[in-house]
Amino acid sequence: MLENVIYCPLISQLSPKEQNIWVDNLNKRFKMVNHKNFVKVVRDDELTIEQKQQCEFAIVANPIPSDLSVYSNLKWIQSLWAGVEKLVEELSSFSFHIVRLIDPTLSQIMSEAVLAWSLYLHRQMPAYLAQQKDCLWKQLPHVLPNERNICVLGLGELGRLSTEVLCQHGFNVSGWSQSEKLINGVQCFYGDVGLDKAIANADIVVCLLPLTVNTHCLVNQDFILKMKRGSSLINFARGGIVKHGDLIEALDNGRIEHAVLDVFDAEPLEAKSCLWQHNKITVLPHISAPTHMKSAVNIVVNNINDYLNTGKIAKAIDNVKGY
Ligand code: NAP
Repeated sequence: MLENVIYCPLISQLSPKEQNIWVDNLNKRFKMVNHKNFVKVVRDDELTIEQKQQCEFAIVANPIPSDLSVYSNLKWIQSLWAGVEKLVEELSSFSFHIVRLIDPTLSQIMSEAVLAWSLYLHRQMPAYLAQQKDCLWKQLPHVLPNERNICVLGLGELGRLSTEVLCQHGFNVSGWSQSEKLINGVQCFYGDVGLDKAIANADIVVCLLPLTVNTHCLVNQDFILKMKRGSSLINFARGGIVKHGDLIEALDNGRIEHAVLDVFDAEPLEAKSCLWQHNKITVLPHISAPTHMKSAVNIVVNNINDYLNTGKIAKAIDNVKGY
């Protein structure tokens, strides 16, 4: 190990091979942009206990919480992922700040997924798939985008751009958030009182909310009864936001037409889960917005350099709000 080096551990449950790829790319980027600081990213298992106790920051990706206990001087951790719900829950007893990945490239990737799967529902692909299984040649009525209402729940880093992309495509878009928002062309609602209006006329409801005590099982029977009859749901946020038993009931009784689910309470989704086999559910293996390594590396390195140069920690999770 080198002297006069600021060690930055990567603490993660990723395979050693994946960790090494991240470490190499992060170090290449640090070398490219650092003039003052000499930061060296290493795997957690490469540091001694004494070195770990000196670290003020760490990069994490699904760490085992107990692996962080030895880092007694940590001021903040930088996640390589945008969704940090599990981390926030597991690390609630730690005093350091949790910085999640906020990456415009990731917002673009998510908005593309929102558009793609909205089009899948809009152009009635589940119905045509079912018809093909029955060798049924039947043309369903065509609907224009401006005749289709889409509501995006959550107007943060991912939801906001998704509403804009849906608008550009010609859909009627509404959105819902905690605080008031103004987005060109989007009917914005907020707070508990705004929810009913936001979803009442939506043909497709897209969930991009964080999982918190307030959003846990938000999409339950009550919520579904407030949705338009025959509408569809896309959940790209976290499995815990949807009460799957209530959703299945609504799919079975025709209240909800179709659900596209990318996220589940336990992942990977167990082979024995009935969600796999349901003909009105599209199961995706958590692929709507994967971290893009190149852009993530740039953002993480910038955040660490800013901290070293100014002492300022990038925007962290608000412990009161839970996101
Ligand atoms: P974000 O920037 O924190 O935005 C969250 C949005 O939700 C904000 O608009 C917030 O309102 C709103 N919100 C939170 N609690 C609410 C409540 N109780 N009522 C109404 N609105 C509420 O988060 P993000 O970066 O957009 O990410 C959203 C989620 O996407 C993540 O938490 C993660 O679970 C998920 N995700 C999934 C994937 C995937 O591949 N499937 C990838 C990345 C992230 P305010 O703006 O008023 O605060």
